[in-house]
Amino acid sequence: MIQETTAKTIITRTKIPVAKYVINPYIGCTFGCLYCYARFIGPFKYTNSRWGRDVWVKVNSAELVERELPRTAGDFFLSSICDPYQHVEKKYGLTRKIIETLTSHFREVHLMTKSNLILRDIDLLKNLSVTLTITTDREEVRKVLEPGAPSIEERIQTLRKLKESGIDVSVFIGPVLVMDAENFARMLSRYVEKVVLDGLNYHRQVYSVYKRYGWTEWLTKEKFMEVVERFEKVFGKGQVIY
Ligand code: SF4
Repeated sequence: MIQETTAKTIITRTKIPVAKYVINPYIGCTFGCLYCYARFIGPFKYTNSRWGRDVWVKVNSAELVERELPRTAGDFFLSSICDPYQHVEKKYGLTRKIIETLTSHFREVHLMTKSNLILRDIDLLKNLSVTLTITTDREEVRKVLEPGAPSIEERIQTLRKLKESGIDVSVFIGPVLVMDAENFARMLSRYVEKVVLDGLNYHRQVYSVYKRYGWTEWLTKEKFMEVVERFEKVFGKGQVIY
């Protein structure tokens, strides 16, 4: 269910290290990652809706950004509790309009997405920092844990195209899912010189699924460090941030 709504405010101060403000033009995310914290924090938990299916579209997002911008000073991150390039963005173009507004006021913008839809806006990305999230090299794992998100191949091709277009793009491997770490590291090393890795924080959300597939050792600190070591073998120490 896609529901249009008008928001009262859109720019939020944040404590996340990447930027001073966040903007979330959507409530909910049709990529539907099983491990996603946005399901339990923020406004979605009050909506009594189905995670991965239902999304609220803040149709007045761009107007609110224009109105609230003079009261802010600093950089912006899109987005903290939804993917700014999830499916509905294709129809509504809110992320695109917000980027246009922010950049026309010379504001620094950081984008993070799993989506190849970002390529639609390649003309706007030249002076932005873009992070592509790719969490595994195993498509069957992606299908279980990120059921609505673009395939691994689509994300790798997106990474390639962004790089070829001279966009400042980095790769975030977070959370580290079940993977063939060395193969994955070699695959990514064709496009980037360093990577950022993060562990899976909310085990309770995925534990039964991990158990069903025999993946529970992947929830341990030891397994995470094993992945870090494999990446360091390919990228070199200091090139793997975790
Ligand atoms: S893409 Fe990001 S915001 Fe969307 S469900 Fe997955 S983790 Fe959550």
